[in-house]
Amino acid sequence: MNPSLKLFQDRLLNWYHAQRRDLPWRSASPDPYHVLLSETMLQQTQVATVVPYFLRFIERFPTLADLAAADLQEILRLWQGLGYYRRARNLHACARQVLSDHAGHVPRDVASLLKLPGIGRYTAGAIASLAYGTPAPILDGNVTRVLCRLDAIDTDPRDRTTQQLLWKRAEEILPDADVGAFNSALMELGATLCTPRNPKCLLCPVQPHCRAAQQGRQEEIPLPKKTKPVPLHRRYVLCIRHHQRFWIEQRPPKGRWAGLWQFKTLESANKPFTTKQLQSKFGLTVSKPQPLGVVRHRLTHRQYEFDVFASDWVGQPPAGSTWASLNELSDYPLPKPHLEIAKLLTTHDWPRPKG
Ligand code: SF4
Repeated sequence: MNPSLKLFQDRLLNWYHAQRRDLPWRSASPDPYHVLLSETMLQQTQVATVVPYFLRFIERFPTLADLAAADLQEILRLWQGLGYYRRARNLHACARQVLSDHAGHVPRDVASLLKLPGIGRYTAGAIASLAYGTPAPILDGNVTRVLCRLDAIDTDPRDRTTQQLLWKRAEEILPDADVGAFNSALMELGATLCTPRNPKCLLCPVQPHCRAAQQGRQEEIPLPKKTKPVPLHRRYVLCIRHHQRFWIEQRPPKGRWAGLWQFKTLESANKPFTTKQLQSKFGLTVSKPQPLGVVRHRLTHRQYEFDVFASDWVGQPPAGSTWASLNELSDYPLPKPHLEIAKLLTTHDWPRPKG
């Protein structure tokens, strides 16, 4: 970055105060609970997606104490569709810990914040600075890109040494006052002007301080991520019906989509299972499975393909099994692909029941 740090800070802050997007968690004196909630939701998720979830949460849980007292299943149900459910579980545990260890007040310092479940260095810095004006640096994907370009950093921002350098820079450039707005401004700049492709340098308030722009290399910095092949996992899903209700099962308490509910899901075979195989291998007494379609779901490090079939249960349902009508499904938190599967069921042409 070019000299005159004060000028850089003023330019960025003036631009932010004039241009910032009006978001429901932003205010002159933000509620620390709102900052904790929004920053948790914003991890790996776009602002436009988060806004309706944030509004729903603060309507249902107006205070941190309300969130702490809530049932985890209800939180997961409200979180449904936002993905990365571990965040919801951590948020719940975090609210409980703030209540028990900090009398319900979200801590103001980074060290105490880092001891809370689900709070890493970035989120701790964001809460401390945005909610309380504590001089703490932040470094997320947007800020990383902005800093790399301002200083024309050529090394891979994912490397440990570059990370350390970037954290140091994020701290060095903090102003003496208005730290929360300054950190928000860095993120806002990355989200709106200093975008991964086609950065809008002509509109950028800190263009005179940007080495990458001066060198005409803003498109080359930061170094792109090396792409790895994303493994494909195939699953066989059987939507089993009995008297207009469907068999759902709860996933294990650990792992992906932990504690959420799903239709009967089996490891996929090369060929669809026959009625006989479903009976002998899995103890499922069902009518001949009818294909419903394929649902695909892509995550950062893996992708899924669900081959979806529908059957009727034959005889009495097994003891202890859970059944829900399509309307009742909304009482259960379902992973996104199973929400898509539920949509397929609404259009499936079921054969008329015999007799
Ligand atoms: Fe980003 Fe361009 Fe501004 Fe530099 S001048 S910070 S590359 S938008």
